[in-house]
Amino acid sequence: MRECFEVRDTDAGGRIGELTVPRADVTVETPALLPVINPNLDTIAPRRLATEFGAEILITNSYIIHETEDVRDRALEDGLHDLLEFPGAIMTDSGSFQLSEYGDIDVTTEEILEFQHAIGSDIATPVDIPTPPDVDRERAEAELETTRERLELAEAVETGEMLVSAPVQGSTYPDLREAAGRHADSTSLDVFPVGAVVPLMNDYRYDDMIDVVAAAKRGLGADAPVHLFGAGHPMMFALATAMGCDLFDSAAYALYARDDRYLTVRGTRHLDDLDYLPCSCPVCTEHSPDDLRALPDDERESELGAHNLHVTFEEIRRIKQAIRAGNLLELVEQRARAHPTMLDGYRTLLDHAAQLERSDPVSKGSFFYTSSESARRPEVVRHHRRLERLAVPDSLLVTEGSPARGDEFDESWRVEPPFGPFPRSLSKSYPLTAEVPDRTDRAALEAAADGVARLAAANPDADITLGHRGWPDGVLERVADAVDVFDLTDG
Ligand SMILES: [Zn+2]
Repeated sequence: MRECFEVRDTDAGGRIGELTVPRADVTVETPALLPVINPNLDTIAPRRLATEFGAEILITNSYIIHETEDVRDRALEDGLHDLLEFPGAIMTDSGSFQLSEYGDIDVTTEEILEFQHAIGSDIATPVDIPTPPDVDRERAEAELETTRERLELAEAVETGEMLVSAPVQGSTYPDLREAAGRHADSTSLDVFPVGAVVPLMNDYRYDDMIDVVAAAKRGLGADAPVHLFGAGHPMMFALATAMGCDLFDSAAYALYARDDRYLTVRGTRHLDDLDYLPCSCPVCTEHSPDDLRALPDDERESELGAHNLHVTFEEIRRIKQAIRAGNLLELVEQRARAHPTMLDGYRTLLDHAAQLERSDPVSKGSFFYTSSESARRPEVVRHHRRLERLAVPDSLLVTEGSPARGDEFDESWRVEPPFGPFPRSLSKSYPLTAEVPDRTDRAALEAAADGVARLAAANPDADITLGHRGWPDGVLERVADAVDVFDLTDG
């Protein structure tokens, strides 16, 4: 059991957890957002992040501090907490990003870890190699080997109470990401960033991002706190949380503000294109778009940065509440509708439904079937697996609606899209209490037919008959030949 992280609540792959940061003497509730602070220019003062936005943790770049003489001297003399005037936990990055951008940096893992320790960082980062997506396999393997060596060097550095992160690389090769996760998990290091995903997000490749995270998670195991490194747009937080990410860092709030870009959970808008401000944060209630446009550059940047942060923290709170209420996937479905690439991300998430099912609670408040994707949710996967373990009589009717012709069989079970068959005694248990639209879609019928087929395959000696309400032939083809079928709407 990893001592610094405890999972309190789960929904799909998402979790509410507690990250204990001993050197800062604080406990950070996850999912958490780490605003990125550039030590040379702060759009929003770190103290304000804590008091006004409730930030419990932030991230800054130790390499920039190391390379900026006056900041370095002040950091070594006063410590990061005094330098930034921030009371929460402070994580530091190592310069790996600079390495990936400029190809070279002039510190070693030992030097930068010792430096991070010396300036009072609470969570430090070694110099890993952020391998970009789509490189050839030889390069991905070779760079991963270097990252492994760096993690082993990091384990040997005397870091006291400071937590140290173990980045998971491996480009877009799921097997390499999984192996990297397994290796990182086997070290004594504490926090696990999934690295080099920024190029995927910049290209809206949320499907590939989910595959990469899912692979890293398979290697890491359930008790590892996972940081999606460089993920700062609130639009994708719910999706990434549902796949099991616990920490996000946002430079986006400041970078976007600098370009007059206004964040929303449905995407980014340019201030010039806004006639209204669709937000109730203090910035948006006190200003009209014209007011904001009329402000001097630095004030406009600061106000937009504040709005961007409000939206970002609000989404984190909404996600936590959704996990607590057990409706995180309903939130992901809503977010997936904001952009076709987000929908690809959600559909890819559901490719991993069996993986998500392991942490998905057996019982929740409600299951709302709100899109054809709902038919592939972990609850449906779990029910279909459960069908193989249910005791079936010699002759069984599974039927929609009331048990017409029920007296011709030993037993009569219900059939409900998208789950398929189940004994009537389970009618009141989750997820079979799901709210499904009366105008059922084809995906729900197909999933129900697959459930019937699964039951028949698990009980080859039973006589199973399906009563359905006008299922199309294409759906009925999914039900095994061994099942007798009749249409309740006939005659
Ligand atoms: Zn606002």
